[in-house]
Amino acid sequence: MTTRPRRRDRPGARQATSQPVDLTQRFDVLVVGGGNAALCAAISARRAGASVLILEAAPKFYRGGNTRHTRNMRCAHDSATEILTGPYSEEEFWEDLLRVTGGDTDEQLARFMIRESKEVLDWIVEQGVRWQPSLGGTLSLGRTNSFFLGGGRAMLNALYQTAERLGVEIVYEAEVRDLTIEDGTFKSARVSHAGASVDVSAKTLVAAAGGFEANIEWLKEHWGEAAENFLIRGTPYNRGTILKLLLDKGVKPVGDPTQCHAVAIDARAPRFDGGIITRLDCVVFGIVVNKNAERFYDEGEDIWPKRYAIWGRLVAAQPEQIAYILFDAKSLKLFMPSLYPPVQADTVRELADKLGLDADALDGTVSAFNAAVQPGTFDDTVLDDCRTEGLTPPKSHWARRIDQAPFYAYPVRPGITFTYLGTRVDRQARMVMQNGAPAENMFAAGEIMAGNVLGRGYAAGIGMTIGSVFGRIAGREAAARAIN
Ligand SMILES: Cc1cc2nc3c(=O)[nH]c(=O)nc-3n(C[C@H](O)[C@H](O)[C@H](O)COP(=O)(O)OP(=O)(O)OC[C@H]3O[C@@H](n4cnc5c(N)ncnc54)[C@H](O)[C@@H]3O)c2cc1C
Repeated sequence: MTTRPRRRDRPGARQATSQPVDLTQRFDVLVVGGGNAALCAAISARRAGASVLILEAAPKFYRGGNTRHTRNMRCAHDSATEILTGPYSEEEFWEDLLRVTGGDTDEQLARFMIRESKEVLDWIVEQGVRWQPSLGGTLSLGRTNSFFLGGGRAMLNALYQTAERLGVEIVYEAEVRDLTIEDGTFKSARVSHAGASVDVSAKTLVAAAGGFEANIEWLKEHWGEAAENFLIRGTPYNRGTILKLLLDKGVKPVGDPTQCHAVAIDARAPRFDGGIITRLDCVVFGIVVNKNAERFYDEGEDIWPKRYAIWGRLVAAQPEQIAYILFDAKSLKLFMPSLYPPVQADTVRELADKLGLDADALDGTVSAFNAAVQPGTFDDTVLDDCRTEGLTPPKSHWARRIDQAPFYAYPVRPGITFTYLGTRVDRQARMVMQNGAPAENMFAAGEIMAGNVLGRGYAAGIGMTIGSVFGRIAGREAAARAIN
């Protein structure tokens, strides 16, 4: 007797309550990925009248990649809103982007994205997403960034609900492992699903499958063995399979493979998916030393929202990719606590022992720092006048003596958020081929093309702007191409 396979075990199976998706039909738009960029693309394509299939590698519970971990999005706006405390002009957004990237951005495309971001602020609400007032803490974003009510997961749930209601077909645990592309024209995708390999064809492709940050072997190609010590803050599913296939099959690359968004996170965080609660925002309140108990960078160079994203790379350059943020009792309550408690001791020497650092060396570093601290008025909301003198590297702001027990430390490692190597796109989110011609029917959105806008550096909330703006456009353009 043969047993009829349970619905969720068969290719194309969705949830137990709904019909399996027929993967043999030819869809207008195939969206690969299941995060913000993919959902924006799928919804926008469906609203334009196209039949749409989403293939998401992760199981339903883990759907949505790195988007699950997000909290906010940066959009230009001309006046204050219910939750944004004031205007944020296109020009100011552009200047911020220019500053953080050091000019390593495609100006035309970036300015275009910023202009479009204004509309996205309302458009995303029309898709069911709700805002809440800015969260407090050390990233002061109340004027520039809109926070998702309930966080990234609630935001995603709203988008999935809208997509389902509109009739977008969604298949989970469906990893695309190969793409058939001929002369810049997408033909079909080979999908691994429920133990079978299925070819899915579509008139157009939207690649929204993230960067390659979870692919340690690929990271090692550019970072060497140091990448073994990196922690990946988000989904283990963003292995760059689609990015690699596209680049191997003639799509023009953009960006430097070593550039990424990387922050300092608690060294005790899990290898993947630790999310936002493992990030440490207390660098400006103390000093940071490496394994040799030596300071290596100005901890008070600028306000934290403009500097937090450099500390991943800084720690990556230290011996064994580890560092320690040290502070004293004065600072314990000044920042948002993370998941793990700090290491605590009554003296600096005892703290060194607990951290496995040389006690003489750490004591010497702290004493030299304390001796260099100048009198000033501490204010962590502005670039204050508390600084060191005659110390290398200096601490330019918020320098206070570390002298009040108990003493605390957090061990930190590089936490990779997402990589910047991507596919070159134009204003229609259409991929550009190596010969400079636009691809016939292939579009990209989100992390997979972030390098067009972010050559390096980062300003909080831009990841979601890139995904929403280009996702919306990619879906609309893919639908237009498929239907006409
Ligand atoms: C901890 C953390 C906090 C963050 N906070 C913010 C924030 O507050 N604001 C902000 O703007 N940005 C933030 N970011 C960055 C932000 O998450 C990304 O920029 C954004 O989510 C990217 O969206 P995406 O759709 O391109 O990628 P993702 O959301 O990562 O989605 C990629 C999807 O592709 C799927 N996939 C991958 N390979 C395949 C394949 N071969 N076949 C099928 N599916 C595949 C994955 O399963 C995943 O669902 C944060 C990131 C992290 C890790």
